[in-house]
Order: sequence, then C-alpha cells, then structure tokens
Amino acid sequence: MIAKVEPLTPARALRGPFDYLLAGALEDVGVGSMLVVPFGRRRLLGVVVDVTERSELPPERLAEPLAALEADVPQSLVRLGLWVAREYVSTPARGLALVLPPGTGTGAARPLRRRRSLRASMTAAGEAALAVGGRAATADVVVDGAPADGAPPRARLGPRQRAALDALVGGPVGAAALARRAGCDHSTLRSLERRGLLSLEPAAEPARRPHVERVGARAGSVALTEAQRRAAETVEACLEGHPGRPLLLHGVTGSGKTEVYLRAVEAALRRGRSAIVLVPEIALTPQTAGRFLERFGDAVAVMHSRLSRRERYDEWWRMRRGEARVCVGPRSAVFAPFSDLGLIVVDEEHDSSYKQEGDPRYDARTVAERRAAEEGALLLAGSATPRPESMLRYERISLPGRVDGRRLPPVEIVGMLGVNGAFHERTRQALDEVRRRGEKAIVLLNRRGWSNFLSCRGCGRVWECPNCDVTLVLHRFAGEVACHHCGHREPIPVACGDCGSVSVARHGTGTEQLERELDALVAPLPVFRLDSDVAAAAGVGAVLRRFDAASAGVLVGTQMVAKGHDFPAVTLGVVLDADATLRFPDFRAEERTFALVAQLAGRSGRGRLGGRVIVQALDPDARALRHAAAHDADGFLAGELARRETLSYPPHGHLVRVVCSSTEPGPEIAAAEAVRELVAGARVPVLGPAPLFRRQGRHRAQLLIRSGDREAAIAAVSHAVGAVAGDRAHGAATFAVDVDPQ
Ligand code: ADP
Ligand code: ZN
Ligand code: ZN
Repeated sequence: MIAKVEPLTPARALRGPFDYLLAGALEDVGVGSMLVVPFGRRRLLGVVVDVTERSELPPERLAEPLAALEADVPQSLVRLGLWVAREYVSTPARGLALVLPPGTGTGAARPLRRRRSLRASMTAAGEAALAVGGRAATADVVVDGAPADGAPPRARLGPRQRAALDALVGGPVGAAALARRAGCDHSTLRSLERRGLLSLEPAAEPARRPHVERVGARAGSVALTEAQRRAAETVEACLEGHPGRPLLLHGVTGSGKTEVYLRAVEAALRRGRSAIVLVPEIALTPQTAGRFLERFGDAVAVMHSRLSRRERYDEWWRMRRGEARVCVGPRSAVFAPFSDLGLIVVDEEHDSSYKQEGDPRYDARTVAERRAAEEGALLLAGSATPRPESMLRYERISLPGRVDGRRLPPVEIVGMLGVNGAFHERTRQALDEVRRRGEKAIVLLNRRGWSNFLSCRGCGRVWECPNCDVTLVLHRFAGEVACHHCGHREPIPVACGDCGSVSVARHGTGTEQLERELDALVAPLPVFRLDSDVAAAAGVGAVLRRFDAASAGVLVGTQMVAKGHDFPAVTLGVVLDADATLRFPDFRAEERTFALVAQLAGRSGRGRLGGRVIVQALDPDARALRHAAAHDADGFLAGELARRETLSYPPHGHLVRVVCSSTEPGPEIAAAEAVRELVAGARVPVLGPAPLFRRQGRHRAQLLIRSGDREAAIAAVSHAVGAVAGDRAHGAATFAVDVDPQ
C-alpha cells in the first residue's frame, strides 16, 4: 500500500503529499496516522492524508516511513484540516497542525510523547509545617531548623514552598500544574519531597483536571422556563432527526441560554455522541465553563488558554480515548478529536475572538458549520446580539425575556457635545446614587491607558511610534508611553526632542485615568479596573472575583467588562464614548457598536434591585445606539441586512483581504498591483491597492476582493498570491490573506 504523506513543515514551498511505501509493521497505518519519513537527507514528521493501491512513482523510488507515532487523528479531522488550509489560503501543514495533538505543531518543536505524570500530595508533616512554620518565614530561603527542645519540628517555608503546600490543601495535584500554580519549579517540589512535606508519585492517570475559576452567580440544575423548555425541545428534535440547518438561539441577556446549551449537551451525550462547546475566552467568562464542569464533571475537557502544552496534550488524549465527551474551549476547541460528534455549541456567537489572527486566519464559526455538516452534527449558535450572517442563514429559536421575568434595564443616551470631562452630569448623578446606596456599577470605555496621545505645547509635535504610523499612548502607572500595535514602549517624555519645551499636553481619557476619576467620585466604594494591562498582571479571574466578592463597588474597563458576566448586584451600566467605534471606516462598525452597548446593558439589572444604563455619545441619534437603547435587535438586524444587501457586503457577498507588506516602501505596492492584475484577470472584482498605516516597521498595501462567488474568489486569490509570492521579482514582499476579515 502507498501512503500519501503531507510533511509538517512551515516552509510554504514544500507542498506534498508525497508517496511512501507501507510495509512490515507499518502496513496498517491509515489516514490520520503520523509518520516520521525520510525526505532527502532529512527526516520529517508527516500526516497520512490518503492511502492508495499504487503510486505514479516507480517502486524503486519509493521510500518507506521510518516510524509511526502513537497519535492518530480521526479521518474526518484530517479532511477538516486540509479544508481549512484551502478555504483560508494557507498551507496543508498549517491546516493539519490545527487537528494534531497539541504540541505536535508544524514539526518545528520536538513532539510531545505520552508519559506517566507525577502527582503531588500533602503529607502529615507537610500539614504540620503549614500550620506551624508557614507564616513566620518571609524570605525564599530554606532553613531546616532542628527541633530544639522537643517541640514539633519547625520547618521554615519560603513563599513559593508555602504556595506549593497551600495548593495541596484541597487534595493531590499533578506536579506540573502544582509547580505552575505555586510559581516554582520542579526542584522546589523535589526538595519539599526530600523533607517529607509532600509526596510525589507516578500517577496512573494524566494530570488532574485543569482548574477553572468560578465567579459570579451560581445555580444547580433548575426548572426550565417555558421558553427554555421549548428551545430545548427544538434542539432535541434536531438531534433526533437528521440535523438540518444550524440553529440560532437568540435570547436576550439573562434569558438563560447556558441552561439550554447544558440540556443540548445532555441530550447529545444521551444519544452516545460527543459535544463541543465554543466560548469566546475562558479567562473572561469563567462562569460558563464552570457550569459545564459542574454539570458533567470529568466528562468535560476544558481547553483553557493558560494550560501548558503538556496539559493540552493530556486533555487531547482524554478526548481521543473517549474519556472526555465534552470539550469546552475557545476557537481551537472546534478541532476537538471526537469521532462521534453530535453537537457543536457556539456561545456568544457574535464575538470576534472566534476569528484567528495568524495564518491560517480561520473563523471557528465557519469551521464549526463545516464540521457539523460533514459529521452529521447539530450546530447551535447563541447570542443576545446575533450576527447578520446567522440571522439570515440559521433557523432561529427565541428566548424573548429574562428568566426571572424582569424587564431589560431602561437605557438612556446622553449627548456629549460641549460637555467637559469624562462624565455627563446624568452619569455623575447615577454613580453618586450607586455610592449612596452601596450598589454596584460597571463602566465601559474601550480605550486603555491614561491618555490617547501626547503633544508638545511649544511646537505641536506628537509622540509617535518609531515602528508604526500611530501615536503612543500614555500609561502613567507603568511610567511609559506605549504603542498598541507593536508593543514598543519608552519612558514618559519630560521634554520635547524637537524644541526642548517641557510643556507636554495630554489628550483624551483612557481606562487608567477613568479609574482615578471614579475613585474620587464613588469613594469609599472600591473601584476595580479590567483591561488587558491588568489582565496581564493580576489575571482577569482575580479582578472578577474581587468585584464579585465586594458588597459594593465599580468595575471599569474595556470591552472585557461587557462579556457574559452574571453579577446580580449590578444596578448601573455606563458606556463612555459609545460611538467611538462608529468613527472607524469598517462595514462592521454598526454591528460592533450595537453589540457592545447591548451586551453592556445586559450586565445591568440582573438581580432583585433592577437596574439601568446610561450611554454617552457624541451623536446620540446614531442608528446602532438607538436600537440598542430600545433593546431592538430585530429592528437593528433588519436594517443592517438591508444596508448590506445594497452594498453586497456579507452575508450578501464575500470578502477576502490581501495585505502585502515590506520593510522598504515600494515593494508592497508593486506586489499588490501584481496580485490585483491576476485576480482581476480571473474576472473577480478587486479594489485597491490602498495604502495602510505602517505597522511593526512594515509598509503595507491592501486589496479587497468582494464577490458573490466565494469559491471563485478564494481560488483566484490563492492562485494569484501563490504566483506572486513565488516570483523573485517580488521577493521583498510578504503576503497575508484574510478570508471573511472581521
Ligand atoms: P444568558 O447567557 O442568556 O445571558 P445565563 O445563562 O447567564 O443567561 O442565565 C442567567 C442567570 O439565570 C444565571 O444565573 C442562571 O443560573 C439563571 N437561570 C437560568 N435558567 C434559569 C431558570 N430556568 N430558572 C431560574 N434561574 C435560571
Ligand atoms: Zn516641541
Ligand atoms: Zn508600534
């Protein structure tokens, strides 16, 4: 037999599949097997994408594989990986890397192997040490104090050692996970073991289940509302028959969508099928993942973004072996290695994090559609603010009211023209009320940092990034100005480099500054900030937990605060500069703005006390804002679909974006021109090249392909980019293709 093997190499030029002769022990490898194959003088890792009777090569030119790895990927996933490669104009190796066991990658790093892991558990001596000596030590120094006068041995513990023992209080933990949680390394654990404070033993099973934070309102199994029951019945009927169109669960915020997902997963499991639950980002919405764990226990594999490579690998195997039947995770969970898939849930289906930013730039929602269709599984997408795409193409089920029958909070839009400062008078009053009554509020401003930009009062110079054509943002707490596009940072300027003036003006308000102003406004209530700066330092979960635990306070931050949190005590939601997003030239600007305001509104009034929302905007009449204030998703979507139809924008047409870039100005334009010629030559309409702002030191030019014929557009772009990228004359340019750009 002949195996057709796709080599897992990052090199774009090396395209398989290549033929290998299967013989001896390797005779029965099948599609999805991973092989080590000889390739010229090298050895490469490859995936079997097909098995055939004969090859076009003469037998003497056929090599045999050197070895087969243990991993084998379900055949359907191999097909899916190759489909992603084609659909998103990437390479087969990159497409396949998505479906392989984590860490097997593009063959760049050494692949992981299954191994028996170590498990750490507390000993009695460890417990005693924690109780006695734990608190006294301050430095990370180990002093093995000999028992002086017959008193219990005083084991002095450094902070990391104490953290390690603390983490064992709840029960045994995998050694790797323990080291990570305690911020120590393996040698620390070994030294604790030598001192008899913990024991390390080989675990029969891979590491313990990854830890998921639980924040916010919680509930066990509940009696469904009438609307939930009808929704669950529809889902179940679809699971029973042959699943047809995907379902769209359109339920207002607080309508109990998660409970419907739980029932859907239950129904799939009952039929002996596995289920995937896609969520935007687990760190941001730990509640949802927590509910699945609570309901299904060890049958759940959680693909948390902070899992180690090893933990991901272990979870992959639990699914592959059928020990885990439910996969909860962000976009990559759509590739969970189930061979009996029955259901894919896409929670908060409007969330743009479902689109991958690097190559392959796949959209997990589209991949989910494809996978569900290919494997006869049901796709169930849900949101309070669905995409126009889903509205048009999916079959809708509605949850029109909140579970407790409470009304959605009233939303007031206030105009900011001529208003000085960050807050409108109405907002100040509302925040003051929250302060007086000791309640909770969430304030959203989609701009992190202290000020947007700095300028010199002497000569007007504006501080810009040396690598990108954008201004630097002031981060006062970090003592620096930073570029939000490339990460460049430098100390806060004290004087102008051009004219020497020491008078530097700060413009605009970001979340840092807002936090300070709120501190003054609502004192003594605590103010919690949540944006990616804080997330990187303290962790999102920690901030959400503190806000949840406080009896009153204000949570301020970027769009992170508008995700699906469920904090019943929040009585006020505020959006600042709500129409800022509308000022971007982007056909999704309205959709984004609507979703952001509606989602933030959804965080307010989930409890007994009710709630309200204030939206500050320069143009209070903006369509997206008016619909959001009226909680009118249907009206908004109808208008949006009509507008898009006129303009042939998605879902009434397909977009592909090609960005060419180069370090010197010039080659990027030339390359874009060349691609355009070829695409236009294939009779596919193309706009551009249009220059984009320089980013990360690269000059960029963009082409936009807008077509009713998706396949033709993708084929034309794929061919054109391949040809131009392979042309030495354009060697200075690189290419990024984005199908369905967000
Ligand atoms: P959504 O995702 O639609 O915004 P959630 O699923 O977060 O709503 O549910 C909101 C709250 O209502 C949660 O605290 C949930 O536990 C609770 N809940 C859901 N269904 C019911 C029900 N049938 N009866 C009572 N409480 C419910
Ligand atoms: Zn100056
Ligand atoms: Zn930059």
